[in-house]
Amino acid sequence: MKKFFKALIAILILAVLGITGVTSYNFYNYAPNKVDHTTNKDQLVYFQESYDACRKEFISLSKKATAKFKNTKTASLMIESKKDQDLTINYCYIPAQKQKKNLLVISSGIHGVEGFVGSAVQQMILAELLDKKQFDNMGMLLIHGLNPFGMKYLRRVSENNVDLNRNSTKDDALYKSINSGYSNLYNMLNPKEKVSLFNPKNLFFHINAALKIAIHSMKVLRQAVLQGQYQYPEGLYFGGKELEPSIKAVTPLIIETSLDYQTVFTIDLHTGYGERGTLHLFPNPIEDKQVKADIKAVFQEQVIDWGNDDDFYTITGNFSDYIGKILPDKYALPMVFEFGTLDSQTTMGALKSLHNMVVENQGFHYGYSSQKHKQRITSNLMEMYYPSSLKWRSKAISDARKLFIQIIERYPLTEK
Ligand SMILES: [Zn+2]
Repeated sequence: MKKFFKALIAILILAVLGITGVTSYNFYNYAPNKVDHTTNKDQLVYFQESYDACRKEFISLSKKATAKFKNTKTASLMIESKKDQDLTINYCYIPAQKQKKNLLVISSGIHGVEGFVGSAVQQMILAELLDKKQFDNMGMLLIHGLNPFGMKYLRRVSENNVDLNRNSTKDDALYKSINSGYSNLYNMLNPKEKVSLFNPKNLFFHINAALKIAIHSMKVLRQAVLQGQYQYPEGLYFGGKELEPSIKAVTPLIIETSLDYQTVFTIDLHTGYGERGTLHLFPNPIEDKQVKADIKAVFQEQVIDWGNDDDFYTITGNFSDYIGKILPDKYALPMVFEFGTLDSQTTMGALKSLHNMVVENQGFHYGYSSQKHKQRITSNLMEMYYPSSLKWRSKAISDARKLFIQIIERYPLTEK
């Protein structure tokens, strides 16, 4: 009964907000928390505004690392495309200088447009954190722009509309799996007409979603939407029908690089989930107690979101777990970093984030009712994955630097 009243209150609040939405277009400017941070201009040098510019900086900094460490390799993997013949995943591999024990893999841009921040973090690591001593037993593989199409054309998904972080699996049975919770929400998530933000479906999206939350609970809904689906190629969170070119290309690189190492620690960089201006440590749920303990030993006082709360959800076909699967004889530690942007841990933030994705996907497939609506939708998407706030960007680098210093110091000490 208590649950029912809670839901009722949520609906009433959202109804008021929905009506505000009808009367005021500004509803779409829903403002998340301010970032409490003083901008450090030096930290902004790592941010560029296009895929090409990010790639160029990454290559240039990688080349500097080659001069510093013996046998460092920097190269690119061409990704096949019908649209663009200049899409590459770039990487920089610094081998352990004395004994290969621990490999640290840091990947960016599996969700295309999230790669701008991921690239900035990788650039900072290359520019600031390459202390020679730390590389005696530890190697580092930086993978830049796992989804170059999405990064270049400002989408989260690949050229085939595939979410690469739902696509990464060794078991093809996943592509035949059915997410029945998703099917129930299909119409809400995937409207099939030109997008207009004035369409009642959009103006009342939040109310419609809140009703669904009241019926099914936020937890069930979050799981159904975010888990990944393999039935609707034009839909949100589509995980594909086979391994996507990017994942195919990067698999042998990871296997070959890992060869002589015992432990492989993967950190996959994302933006968009969680409290604005906070770096969340958010792995897919981990069962293995030893793996958990070793990850804790690296991060120590940092809060890790192990997924015990209401915001808990599991995803299928995710990349950091995939690395463990393609390296069955290695000790694999998976971790995901999420730089929060829209307060998606709150109900309003989560609905706003979801709505941004719905209209972007709809616009991509069915077009926009006007150029103005297209601009609004694109800028909302960018704010969600690559905030323009200089405070936000500067804090992302401060937080990442602090954590990576810690990782580089502590990870080689994890004896296995
Ligand atoms: Zn992501």
